[in-house]
Order: sequence, then C-alpha cells, then structure tokens
Amino acid sequence: MQKERIRIVNNFSPNVKGEYVLYWMQAYRRLEYNHSLDFAISLAEQYKKPLVVYEGLRMDYPWNSTRIHRFILEGMENNFFEAEEKGFTYWSFVETSKNPARGVLKSICEKAVAVVTDDFPCFIIPEQTTKLANKILVPLYSIDGNGVIPLKLYGEFASAARILRPRIHKLFPESFRHISNKNPSIKNLPSWKKTPPLPTWNPRTKSINEILNEISFQNQVSVVPTKGGRKQALILLEEFLSKKILHYEEGRSNPHSPQVSPVSGLSAYIHFGYISIDEIVSSVLNLNSKENWSIENLNLSQIGKKEFFHNNPSIYGFLDELLTWRDIGYLMFFLEPSFRKDLSILPDWLKKNNLKHKEDKREHLYTKLQLENFVTHDKLWNLAQKELVFTGKMHNYMRMLWGKKVIEWTSSLEEAFEILEDFNNKYALDGRNPNSYTGILWCFGLFDRPWFPERNIFGNIRYMSTDAALRKFQMQEYIDYVEGLSHETLF
Ligand SMILES: Cc1cc2nc3c(=O)[nH]c(=O)nc-3n(C[C@H](O)[C@H](O)[C@H](O)COP(=O)(O)OP(=O)(O)OC[C@H]3O[C@@H](n4cnc5c(N)ncnc54)[C@H](O)[C@@H]3O)c2cc1C
Repeated sequence: MQKERIRIVNNFSPNVKGEYVLYWMQAYRRLEYNHSLDFAISLAEQYKKPLVVYEGLRMDYPWNSTRIHRFILEGMENNFFEAEEKGFTYWSFVETSKNPARGVLKSICEKAVAVVTDDFPCFIIPEQTTKLANKILVPLYSIDGNGVIPLKLYGEFASAARILRPRIHKLFPESFRHISNKNPSIKNLPSWKKTPPLPTWNPRTKSINEILNEISFQNQVSVVPTKGGRKQALILLEEFLSKKILHYEEGRSNPHSPQVSPVSGLSAYIHFGYISIDEIVSSVLNLNSKENWSIENLNLSQIGKKEFFHNNPSIYGFLDELLTWRDIGYLMFFLEPSFRKDLSILPDWLKKNNLKHKEDKREHLYTKLQLENFVTHDKLWNLAQKELVFTGKMHNYMRMLWGKKVIEWTSSLEEAFEILEDFNNKYALDGRNPNSYTGILWCFGLFDRPWFPERNIFGNIRYMSTDAALRKFQMQEYIDYVEGLSHETLF
C-alpha cells in the first residue's frame, strides 16, 4: 500500500496486550478491494492477533430516514453473510431506542491493540473519527481508500478538471500497481473464539423491517425498490459492462429512465462503499482484453487528454467521470476539512459576479415547500424533482438543470444552495458525498468558466434552459417513465 494513504489520527503506542486489531468500517462497507481492511490485516499479522471487523449503524445521523437506513442495512446483511462465508470475525451493531449506541464503540476499542478506519473526507465521518481518537488510548489509523490515487499525492486544490487530469495521468501508473486486494486473506491470523462483547445484529433472527419499525426517523422519506449492498453493486457493474458502457459517450447526457440510460447507476453503491473504484477501473480496463490489461496499455503520450486511458471515447469518457470528476470533489474536501459546505468556497470571480447580480429581479419565486412538492410552472423540472423524491435518483443532465432552475427561482443564492443541499441529501441515495456538494456548486459556477453573454441573476455563470433541453434531446421515454411513477407502481 502507498504510504500516503495512511493517516495517524492519534499518537498512542499499540497495546500489545490487546485482544484483537479492530477495523471500524465506516465508509468502505465491503470485505473485498478495501485498503483499510488490507492495512488492518497487516497490523493483525504484525501483532499476531485476531482481526475484528466492526460495522455500526446509529440512528441519529443528519437526513436520516427509512430510505437511507434500509439501503445501509441491506449492505450490512450482505456483509454478515459474506463474512461468515470467508471466515471473518464480523460484529455488526444496529442502534435502536432499545439498543443505544452510546459507549459501544469505545468499549470495544479499549480491548484492541490498535484501531483502523476509513478516511472518507465528508459528511459526519471526519468528526466521528476525531471524536473517537480523543476518547481511546490505542492508535487510530485512518486509511484513504477513496480512489485509485491517494488524495494526498494530488497536492494542491484543482480549480478545474483540466488541471487535475494531467496529475491523475502522471500518478495513475504507480498507484494502479498498488490497488487493494480482491480477496484479502486472513489465513495467517489467529481466530477469535469468544462471544462478541456487544449485542450484535444477526439478520437471521431479526429482519430489516423489524429494525426499521423500532426507529422513529426525523425525516419522512419512503423506501425505494433500489436494493443496497455489495451483491447488487456487482450485478449493476456486470450489466453496465456487458450492455451499456460502449454507448456511454453517445447516450449518457440524454435523459432516460435508469433502465434505458447507458450509465452505470453505481453512485449510491460507491458512496456507501459497496464497490471500490479500484475494481470498477480494473474491470473497465480489462473489458474486451484477451490477456490481462497492464500499465503498458496506457497511451503515455496522451497525458492530460482523455485518450490517455483508452482509444474508445465511451471507455475514456466513463473513466474520466469516475476518476477526474469524482476525485476533484474528494480532493476539495480532503484539502479543506473546515469547509462549512456553503458558497464560501467559490473563487473570487464568482463571488464578484454574485454580488453584482444579488438584487436582480426574479420572474418566478417559489417556496421550499412548492419546490419540494414539484408544483412549479416548469413541467420538466417538476418531473426531475418527482424522480428524486420517488426513486432516490435523478438523471445527471436533469440534475444540472434542476440545480440551475432553483438558483433562478429563489430569492438568493444562499437560499438556493440550502434547498439544493437539503433535497439532494434527504432524497438521493448517493447524497451526503463530496460529489453532492461539488455537483451542486458546479451549478453555481465552481470548476466552470465564465459564460457570455452576461445574464440576469446568473451573470457569467453558465445558464441552462428547459426549452433547450427539450429541443436537444429525445425526452419522451424519460417523461413517460417519471409520469408513470407512483408509490403503487414502485411497490
Ligand atoms: C446538482 C448535482 C448534484 C449531484 N449530487 C451528487 C451526489 O449527491 N452524489 C454523487 O455521487 N454525484 C452527484 N452528482 C454528480 C452526478 O450527477 C452523479 O455522480 C451521477 O449522475 C451518478 O450516476 P451514475 O452512477 O449512473 O454515473 P455514471 O455516469 O455511470 O458515472 C460513474 C461514476 O462516476 C462518478 N461521476 C459521474 N459523473 C460525475 C460528476 N458529474 N461529478 C462527480 N462524479 C461523477 C460517480 O461516482 C458515478 O457513479 C451531482 C451532480 C449535480 C449536477
């Protein structure tokens, strides 16, 4: 593993009398292709101790709902059975009002030699990690398994994709040699023979629905048929590679239903760590290659150009989204841990632009409630919002249009940001991610250039219009799909 992935969060010496090495699985919720797991196994080998994988789920996180909770529980259920099959000691803990989480994690850390966790740079995870580090007396290592390239290696902030792209290309060959293990082995480790010192969740004896019925969530957001967990992530990857990827370039921007659109649908699975970027990139690069793909197949003369990875525009287009556009958001969060998740991160030209257009007259103004209930004058926008509320997803092109219109229809940019953040994180399965924020901020001009002519409200921020989308794309399939959605058709 590249050493730049490893962050030592506190400076205690390992407790050699500890009973096990603990992997606290917070973000990369899988037992394969997982750098944190690889590192935890290497520590357990070094101290000749058993490895314990702990996956916990609290009930009080921001934007909590049955929709998000069920998606996570389905992942935990997959992990429970996979751990059993592979011989991992896996303790899953699910908080309910009868089964409070307070003190559980700390107490199992007290018996550990050392603790390893995931260095995901967004949502509540950085704060949870720091909090635990201050409570325990053993070392806590946080491992950056966010992507193929350790975020630390990128250096400074990238203000545009074209700035990050050449850095990715230069770093990729070496980092790709050190990707995570497909099948991490624990055969050299002693096994844990005692009963777990906490009330663990066994999906054989308590169903997901029983758990959901015991929790009262702050947000009333219905469950969706999209299943969580690693198994479903692997099915989607397989479907994408066998049927869709070669149509990515020509078809990804045209709004369609998820079944028809030639996109992967993987973002929520990536967000919850059910699938790793290492394995997606490996599978894509090995597509159609008779022998195993190797670093020598890279077009080293094309550094900075998308063709670096492959000559096929669909393959390089997909990898560019997965590596460049995804990592630019992760890097921003990694470099700015104190970022307050608002418009303060925008560059100076946008701040000046926004000040100049602050008082511009708005032709349509909607309340948050009207927007949430998709009752604007714009039929296409209403459909996008309905898709999000009903399914937890929104097509990428519609997401851009959706964000731009909220800017146009609210009384200030700050209000628009707050509404977009709330809707995206409350309803989208892939929300609460660095790309939630960079996606929303892109609508406010982040990572983009000035556009002309200067317009009302937007100034030089890129403008998007519903009429243009209707002229440009074949929309009927998308419109029929969303119009047909109702709670009855979903279940
Ligand atoms: C307003 C707005 C909000 C967004 N909110 C989120 C969010 O909450 N979570 C999220 O993961 N993405 C978000 N995005 C980015 C993008 O819309 C989604 O990543 C993409 O639509 C997910 O669908 P997919 O998995 O089928 O993508 P594919 O096209 O199959 O791409 C594969 C993967 O590449 C990455 N990717 C693709 N497009 C982008 C992009 N534009 N920016 C960053 N990474 C990308 C994702 O990890 C995605 O899963 C947002 C974009 C906008 C404009």
